[in-house]
Amino acid sequence: MKPATVLLTDYAWPDDAVEREIIEAAGFKLVSGPAAPAPAEAIERLAREHEPVAIMTCWAQVSASAIAAPPELKIVARIGVGLDNIAVGAATERGAWVTNVPDYCVEEVSDHAVGFALAWARGLVSMDREVRAGRWEPAAAKLKRVSTLTCGVIGFGRIGRMTARKLAAFGCRLIAYDPMQSTPVSGVEFVDPATLFSRSDIVIVHAPLTESTHHLVNRDRLALMRPGGLLINVSRGGVVDTTAVVDALRSGRLSGAALDVLESEPAVPADLADQPGAILTPHVAFSSDASLLELRRRSCEEVVRVLRGEPPQQPCNQPAR
Ligand code: NAD
Repeated sequence: MKPATVLLTDYAWPDDAVEREIIEAAGFKLVSGPAAPAPAEAIERLAREHEPVAIMTCWAQVSASAIAAPPELKIVARIGVGLDNIAVGAATERGAWVTNVPDYCVEEVSDHAVGFALAWARGLVSMDREVRAGRWEPAAAKLKRVSTLTCGVIGFGRIGRMTARKLAAFGCRLIAYDPMQSTPVSGVEFVDPATLFSRSDIVIVHAPLTESTHHLVNRDRLALMRPGGLLINVSRGGVVDTTAVVDALRSGRLSGAALDVLESEPAVPADLADQPGAILTPHVAFSSDASLLELRRRSCEEVVRVLRGEPPQQPCNQPAR
């Protein structure tokens, strides 16, 4: 009998060796799409051609059509956290599990957020650019004492909590907004969004992208900030209105926008890249040698578990049948 196929739609690392080793050691066949995410139609073609029992995806869109294509799909595994590239409802309806690896990069993403905050407060990126351009001008430095800053965390989940803990160690004042948070947290004041924007020197976005968080950071809310603040987004691009951010940088309402994610990614708007206050990284907050290995291993193990008839450890849906 031919081994059942696991389709790896794409991967954000140099090769598929870890996935191949774990999936094939468990007796399944791994078919990999191109490393860079192919368009949804290409994934649908792969699903029709290979009839996988499991689809593993990093960034590629796994549409309702791709999910409907194979005769016996058991699981769609996100190799990551967010599920916005998977038609979860379609998977649930046809009886397939959707899983993710929710906590593999809590340390890395919170480090990235804190790194952005420190880079802005201490001028690490801006002054590096100045020195390389031949300007050695210490008198021009406009740096901040980190312990005097108020940081507003939007989305107080796993990563938001860890970022808050790390910034508290620097002496920052912590405020937060999270509609689901009901228990008090020592050292953190929970406030409404308007209060968060008006009191924060640094606003840090850790909320997921959903219909209700789309453009949660918009022109009106940025206008509430004191002039010269910093916006950090290490969540999903669509939570932030990029045009409003560019305008806020131009007007000086923001002196910095540190963005790991963009609603247009991988395209970078030219008017954003032109802003000296923009600090941009290419959606890598999750990445480290340790986190990637953990992510790859745990998502493959989840697939193997489900294909062996066991329940997943990180279910994101409850399949209909
Ligand atoms: P989590 O589910 O533990 O926490 C998310 C929190 O956001 C929850 O507490 C939830 O109540 C809150 N929330 C929901 N709607 C909100 C709203 N309207 N306003 C404010 N808060 C709201 O998730 P997490 O592990 O902390 O991850 C957060 C997000 O970070 C993920 O959804 C993912 O998109 C993003 N992420 C990005 C990277 C990266 O590399 N840039 C890596 C991992 C995760």
